[in-house]
Amino acid sequence: MTEEVDLLIAGAELVATMDDRRRELRNGWVAIAGGVIVGVGDGRMPTPAASRVVDARGCLVTPGLVNTHHHIYQNLTRAYRPATSGTLFPWLQTLYPLWSRIDEESVHVSAWVGFAELALGGCTTTMDHLYVHPRGGGDLISAEIMAARDIGIRFHATRGSMSLSEKDGGLPPDSVVQDDDTILAESERLVLAHHDRSPHAMVQVALAPCSPFSVTRDLMRRTAELAERLDVRLHTHLAEDPDEDVFCMETFGCRPLEYFEDVGWGSSRAWVAHCVHPNDEEIVRLGQWGTGVAHCPSSNLMLGVGLCRVHELREAGVAVGLGCDGSSSTDSASLWMEARNAMLIGRTRRGPATMGARDALELATRGGAACLGRTGQIGELSVGACGDVAVWGLDGVIFAGAINDPIEALLRCGPTAPRHTIVAGRSLVEDGRLVSHRVDEMLAAHRRAAERVQGVIS
Ligand SMILES: [Zn+2]
Repeated sequence: MTEEVDLLIAGAELVATMDDRRRELRNGWVAIAGGVIVGVGDGRMPTPAASRVVDARGCLVTPGLVNTHHHIYQNLTRAYRPATSGTLFPWLQTLYPLWSRIDEESVHVSAWVGFAELALGGCTTTMDHLYVHPRGGGDLISAEIMAARDIGIRFHATRGSMSLSEKDGGLPPDSVVQDDDTILAESERLVLAHHDRSPHAMVQVALAPCSPFSVTRDLMRRTAELAERLDVRLHTHLAEDPDEDVFCMETFGCRPLEYFEDVGWGSSRAWVAHCVHPNDEEIVRLGQWGTGVAHCPSSNLMLGVGLCRVHELREAGVAVGLGCDGSSSTDSASLWMEARNAMLIGRTRRGPATMGARDALELATRGGAACLGRTGQIGELSVGACGDVAVWGLDGVIFAGAINDPIEALLRCGPTAPRHTIVAGRSLVEDGRLVSHRVDEMLAAHRRAAERVQGVIS
């Protein structure tokens, strides 16, 4: 490497590359040019000249974390007490009337604030599953994409949908459902307008009916066909709660995964949120299809839906990523915390030897990349991958004494957050603070939007 690079992250105590060989580089460095990683090495290899250097001495450097399931608009109704003790279905039914008030402006500010929160937790790529599209609410997906571009996070928008309202036997009220033709036309328009197919894409779009209990069978089927034709990915909730088994048997006469397969979704094009309740045989089928799973540990614990069988899914060859989920998920959006909670749940289920910090970090990086169809592009520090990096300080009171293994330290100590979060070679978080100057302005706008959505008279 003879030319000067844009950014050199240098002198790290350890670089956990999460590359194909899972190399861990002592006194390591990462070089980024044009938003892409152009060099990774350890202390024995010469570093390139750089126009900007981030001092990572005493730090663990990891790939930026990947969030595979979220509903960011729900940060407008965080910790809303009337819904805090409900199981999934009553929780949803309490909040739908509030969510029916969202519009372009409230979605834009909620997305901006949500992206900021994710970046502060080390996330560099996030999806969002936005499935509430109230009548007259405007172009909500484009409003989110504008926020992502402004703050600089890598974003996988998903065009969510609901077409089965209470009067048709579904859960949501009439005001937030749309007809199938409108949903499909909007989905295609958004893909054509925003989906970037390049390997270092900052914005991609996937299609995402909310769940089997909120859309018609016909919409599930036609969405899968449209995704095939447009060559984009598919996402939905699946097998989250035992209530869903009962609902599917009564409504469709089969289990959720049978229904999923029947409507043409059993494929490597799809990744699904939660998947807590597949049986043994269904886990094998998920692996055969190549369908990914977004494991949402905090959300599962908060709603009490059960413990996801992550070991069994991975043993069956299923790609498992992590998701912070929406406001059901401890009302927090830290991928660090999701990685730690995944580790705790895994150890509770099958013992401490079965889920170490490296396994949890794998879920948070490479697993997420696979769910989003971006293996080799994100979730690893290797030449040619996107320049997305989290730099974790390992100093201070919480890490005192943790001098043996920086990766175990990251997830066993804490709570913590990265010192720097870098996307495409650009810092979103520096020294633990958001770089953007718009934080106060956006928080004030978020407060106003939250009051309006929650019906607070001020
Ligand atoms: Zn969800």
